[in-house]
Amino acid sequence: MRRTDRQVNDPVKIREIIEACHCCRLGFNDNGKVYIVPLNFGYEETENKKYLYFHGALQGRKVELIKREGQAGFEMDTGYKLNAAKEACGYAAAFQSIIGAGNVCMLEETEEKIHALRCIMSHNIGKSDWEFPLEAVKKTAVFRLEITELSCKEHK
Ligand SMILES: Cc1cc2nc3c(=O)[nH]c(=O)nc-3n(C[C@H](O)[C@H](O)[C@H](O)COP(=O)(O)OP(=O)(O)OC[C@H]3O[C@@H](n4cnc5c(N)ncnc54)[C@H](O)[C@@H]3O)c2cc1C
Repeated sequence: MRRTDRQVNDPVKIREIIEACHCCRLGFNDNGKVYIVPLNFGYEETENKKYLYFHGALQGRKVELIKREGQAGFEMDTGYKLNAAKEACGYAAAFQSIIGAGNVCMLEETEEKIHALRCIMSHNIGKSDWEFPLEAVKKTAVFRLEITELSCKEHK
């Protein structure tokens, strides 16, 4: 990162920023074109892995790309605040953002899907002990991105 003074390395702070984000944009390579799709998400950290979870329809462009490419980039941000100034060049924006990439795959096992859906609910609603009807789980695509690259930037 060119502006190293804005780089965030503290894992606790990075987790807080992820927790404050509600939209994660996944970016795919679609035969040389870029496809970016905004999604709600859930987040999980284990001892040495970081996962993003997503859900949606069983069909569609992103699902095709997940199955075909197995990789995606991602971006999420929060805390945007415009700092006004007298001169145009004096304007600046505060933000906190995360950019990364990882391996993405569809989850097929019911238990894995329910775990992911609970992570998504926990991230967005703050409560994870939801029940999901099995018929609904079957009809829902649930996918997981294992984070392999992550950087975090904060502009105050
Ligand atoms: C803040 C936010 C949160 C969202 N959360 C979820 C989520 O958790 N799960 C989920 O499944 N969907 C979510 N959506 C909708 C999501 O962005 C996609 O529209 C949806 O998932 C379908 O994607 P797809 O690749 O299957 O597109 P398809 O239905 O296959 O459509 C293909 C084409 O439609 C166009 N298109 C698709 N989506 C969009 C879009 N959002 N805006 C403009 N054009 C579009 C593109 O040109 C694309 O090539 C969210 C959208 C927003 C803005």
